[in-house]
Amino acid sequence: MSLSHDDGLRDAASVDFGHLVHHRPSAVVRPRSAREVAEVVRSAAAAGVPVAARGRGHSGYGQALTTGIVIDMSTLATVHEVRDDRIVVDAGAGWDAVLEAAWRRGSAPPVLTDYLGLSVGGTLSAGGIGGTSFRYGLQTDTVTELEVVTGGGTVHTCVPSDDLFAAVLGGLGQCGIITRATLRLVGARERVRRREIDHATVTSAAAEQLWFIEVGRFDFVQGQVRYGASGRRIFLETATYYTTPTEPHDDGEDVPYLDFQHRLDAAEALLTQTGGWFQPHPWWNCFLPASTAVDFLESLVDALTADDLGPAGCVLFYPVFTERMHAPLVRLPPERVAYLIAILRFPPDATTAAAQLTQNLHLYREARQRGGTAYPIGAIPFTTADWHHHYGTDWPRLREWKSRYDPAQILTPGPGIFPTRDHCPPQ
Ligand SMILES: Cc1cc2nc3c(=O)[nH]c(=O)nc-3n(C[C@H](O)[C@H](O)[C@H](O)COP(=O)(O)OP(=O)(O)OC[C@H]3O[C@@H](n4cnc5c(N)ncnc54)[C@H](O)[C@@H]3O)c2cc1C
Repeated sequence: MSLSHDDGLRDAASVDFGHLVHHRPSAVVRPRSAREVAEVVRSAAAAGVPVAARGRGHSGYGQALTTGIVIDMSTLATVHEVRDDRIVVDAGAGWDAVLEAAWRRGSAPPVLTDYLGLSVGGTLSAGGIGGTSFRYGLQTDTVTELEVVTGGGTVHTCVPSDDLFAAVLGGLGQCGIITRATLRLVGARERVRRREIDHATVTSAAAEQLWFIEVGRFDFVQGQVRYGASGRRIFLETATYYTTPTEPHDDGEDVPYLDFQHRLDAAEALLTQTGGWFQPHPWWNCFLPASTAVDFLESLVDALTADDLGPAGCVLFYPVFTERMHAPLVRLPPERVAYLIAILRFPPDATTAAAQLTQNLHLYREARQRGGTAYPIGAIPFTTADWHHHYGTDWPRLREWKSRYDPAQILTPGPGIFPTRDHCPPQ
C-alpha cells in the first residue's frame, strides 16, 4: 500500500464543500481493502501522524481535512451483497450506488439524504437525516453491522450491542474508520406523488407538518423557506410512495421514485456550471426541541434575507421523533419531538461568508440556550468548551472510547474535538 504525494490528489483533498477551511495533506491513500486502511493507520499511529477518512468531502468546515494522511474512501466502494431486507457495502460507496443496487432487487434504504452524492461512511459518521426520518430515524438507525478500523490499525466487526458500534455511529470519525456496513432495506415503490403546500407562516407550516408525522399521513415530509425577488415562500414538501395499480388519493405531481430521490441532481449540475458549488458554504444545522423550535424558526426566518442565502439557498425544517434515534453520539434535545433546522447559505463572496461564520456561532449559542444541539456537519466554529457542552454527560464516555480505540489520538482531527497536531481549537 503506497502513499501518494501527487499534487493533484493532495490539492483535491485539501478542501471540502464548505470552502472555508484548507489543510493540505502530506499524502493521500487510495485503499482497496480494509486491511490496507489498517496498514496505513498502524504506521501513522506509530509515527504520530494524523489520519482522516474522506468520503465525498461534502462536510462544511474541514471535518475530513488534515495536514497528515487522507484516506480517500472512494476506492473502497464495492456493493458486496444485496438481499430483500439488507445490503452489505463498503463505506466509500455513495448513497446513489446503494440505492441503485437495492432498487434492482426491488428494495430501497429506508432513509435517504436529500442529496445522494454522499458516502455511506460520511453520513454514518454524522447521522444522516432525510424526509423519512420521522418514521425510520437516522441512517445510523438502519445499520445492523459494521466493519471498522480503529486507531491502533486493527480491523473489527461490531454489532449494536458493542461499544465500538456506539463509538463510531455518529462518532465523527473519532474512534474508527468505517470500512463496511450492513444496512437495512425496505420494499421499494415505483412512483411518488409529490406535493408542495404553501403556508403564510412558519408556525402554521410547522403545525401541519407535526400533524402529518403524528398521523403518518405521508411517507416523506420536509419544510422549506425560500427567498426570492417576489418575497418569501414557506411550504411543506410531501410525498407518498406507491406502486400501481394502488394509487394514493392525494393531489400532486407524479414522478418515478428514482427521479424523486435524485431531485437535487439538476441543482448540483447548475451550481457546478455557475461555480456556486465551489464557493464558500457557511451552512448551519441544529436540532431544537419542539417546545422552542417554532419560535426560534419564526424569528430566524424573519431575520434572514434573500441576500443572506443567495438564490440557491433555503432554510429546511424537519420534525423527528427522538425515540427513533439510537446512536448516543448523535446529540439530540431531550424531548419526544425535535426539529432539525438547516440554513443553506450561498454567500456572494468570502467576506460575507466570514461574517456568516461568526453569525453561525451566535445562532448556535442561541439555539443551545433554547435546548438545541448541533448537527455537526456544517460550519459552526466550535471551541473545546462547545464540544464539552455538546457531549454533556457523555463527554467522559467519549474520552474513554477515544483513549481505548485511538490511543495515539491520530484519527479525524478536523472537527477539533480533541487537540491534535493539526488542530488546537480556541478555548
Ligand atoms: C449538497 C449537500 C446535501 C446534504 N444533504 C444532507 C441531508 O439531506 N441529510 C444529512 O444528514 N446530511 C446532508 N448533508 C451533509 C452530509 O451528510 C455530511 O456532511 C456528510 O458527513 C458528508 O458525507 P461525505 O461522504 O461527503 O463525508 P466527508 O465530508 O468526506 O466526511 C465527513 C466526516 O466523516 C468522516 N468520515 C468519512 N468517511 C468515513 C468513514 N468511512 N469512517 C469514519 N469516518 C468517516 C470524515 O473524516 C469527516 O470527519 C449534505 C451535504 C451537502 C453538501
